[in-house]
Amino acid sequence: MTAAADVAFENTFVRDLEGLYLPWDAAPAPEPRLVLLDEALAVDLGLDPAWLRTAEGLGLLTGTAPPESATTVAQAYAGHQFGGYSPRLGDGRALLVGELVAPDGQRRDLHLKGSGRTPFARGGDGKAPLAPMLREYLVSEAMHALGVPTTRSLAVVATGEFVMRERGPEPGAILARTASSHLRVGTFQFAAATGDRDVLRRLADYAIARHHPSCADADNPYLELFRRVVDAQAALIARWMHLGFVHGVMNTDNMTISGETIDYGPCAFLDAHDPAAVYSSIDSGGRYAYGNQPGIAQWNLARFAEALVPLLDDDQDVAVREATGVLEGFADAYLAARDAGYRRKLGLPDGLDAAPLLTDLAALLAEAKPDHTLFFRRLSDAARGDAGPVRDLVDDPSVVDGWLESWRAAGPDPEVMDRVNPIYIPRNHLVEEALTAAVAGDLEPVQWMLQVLARPFDEREGYERFAQPPGPGTAPFVTFCGT
Ligand code: AMP
Ligand code: MG
Repeated sequence: MTAAADVAFENTFVRDLEGLYLPWDAAPAPEPRLVLLDEALAVDLGLDPAWLRTAEGLGLLTGTAPPESATTVAQAYAGHQFGGYSPRLGDGRALLVGELVAPDGQRRDLHLKGSGRTPFARGGDGKAPLAPMLREYLVSEAMHALGVPTTRSLAVVATGEFVMRERGPEPGAILARTASSHLRVGTFQFAAATGDRDVLRRLADYAIARHHPSCADADNPYLELFRRVVDAQAALIARWMHLGFVHGVMNTDNMTISGETIDYGPCAFLDAHDPAAVYSSIDSGGRYAYGNQPGIAQWNLARFAEALVPLLDDDQDVAVREATGVLEGFADAYLAARDAGYRRKLGLPDGLDAAPLLTDLAALLAEAKPDHTLFFRRLSDAARGDAGPVRDLVDDPSVVDGWLESWRAAGPDPEVMDRVNPIYIPRNHLVEEALTAAVAGDLEPVQWMLQVLARPFDEREGYERFAQPPGPGTAPFVTFCGT
């Protein structure tokens, strides 16, 4: 059995990036109780799942008794939230415990969310309720299984205390998550705002070493870093769009340098396809609507470019010009990733000019608003000769018939389609139902969902309910950030 002394954290962030964090300790967790643990992920990280279940293991997962090798810190960052700039955000209720280097050499942060107030807490209580932490666990694990780059969830531990939210007292919890790093666009904004170019340079060098080491060989390593982040984000957002994922809070502090999805708050998957879909109660203007996500990503990357300008060239005009050139590449990178993904979703053969089919499909989906997930999944039936199931998804099937005919004439491959079009996604109504049960003490629905979502492409008998959209009459889904 492992002992705390055997858990070897490294602390390169703390070692290299003084000025971008504050050392801080977790608040006590009066009665910690393990609610969920991803055992396979634990093993990948070199942690013994049995040990994580012990009192000592919970000391790590709550941050209350971290191993000797860990240095817990609250990371500093700034960020544009809904377009408005906040110079000092940072981990208000989270801590970086340290980095674990897996046997395969992969370095991952272990980070705790809900571990108590830090100097960045502003008015917040530093705590997290159980339901939103379970929500992040469920959705991030689903995203991982869907093949989307994302932070992962290692564990949820109930703390034994209650936290006050608008709805009343709720059980408190801590989410232990991993990420290839927690560097955000907002981290660069914070570093740039110090006005100390050395801080910014150290951060950029650190990001290059950790995420894009080959940039170091480029003529302008920092411009190359920017290009890689632009490409990684273009690919990520395309994946979200294919799956109908709405992040909900694409603030610059919630956009990673690694290209992983981070910070699952008021996120949701589309039921009916709708570019204007917004699920977050705090997004009244629809800034982060489904269809706006690519544009917002580019807007955030422009803020990243602004932060990098001092490193790009001594002549600011040259720096801005070069950054603008790279930023303009976002649209092409995004459209290429988007179209390549839709080609697979439609099972189209290589070499075919898919542009007319894709353009018409976008218009058709926006007009007929079928269930996003089922529409693509049932297209495989149509490819196999039975268009009934997909026609059933729209009020007026004649709207889709012309398109279906042109698409089928292209010879789509349903086998390819079934590997990329999931049948099971974290349906909002099912997630809410499972979380409600969990808060009342019944974890079984959450366990079921995790099991279903771990294999989103394999249709299984007895799981029909998990593939169904909410019934007619169900109130439109809204997530009250409530994190
Ligand atoms: P998020 O919406 O989770 O990405 O958080 C945005 C910012 O608010 C971050 O700086 C968080 O650390 C901070 N924050 C969110 N909830 C709390 C809380 N309950 N207590 C302290 N800070 C919080
Ligand atoms: Mg955040």
